[in-house]
Amino acid sequence: MTTTESSKLSSEKSLEAMKNFAETYAKRTGTYFCVDPSVTAVVIEGLAKHKDDLGAPLCPCRHYEDKEAEVKATFWNCPCIPMRERKECHCMLFLTPDNEFAGQEQDIPMSELEAVRATLA
Ligand code: SF4
Repeated sequence: MTTTESSKLSSEKSLEAMKNFAETYAKRTGTYFCVDPSVTAVVIEGLAKHKDDLGAPLCPCRHYEDKEAEVKATFWNCPCIPMRERKECHCMLFLTPDNEFAGQEQDIPMSELEAVRATLA
């Protein structure tokens, strides 16, 4: 038995940082958050958790054999190469306006993030 268990949720500091990153990056790239804000919130929480655990916001929507090695490889550190090169975000965090799931928001209230975190805690 280990004596300490790492938190399932990200720190408030990383959550705030990834929220700000996502909002700024959506505006910069002309992309939008999903019509369902819980999708956006889950991805932001996942990025923030990776930032806490690994020191980098590794994409939370993929399976990795070795997360530390993936962080070093940088390909899937957000914004990943497919997003930077082709605006392809398979997490549905950044959606181009022609995507059927794209909403009209480039900001997400902290209350939406907290609501999703409450279900994950
Ligand atoms: S798919 Fe790319 S841009 Fe989208 S959340 Fe993952 S790393 Fe970020």
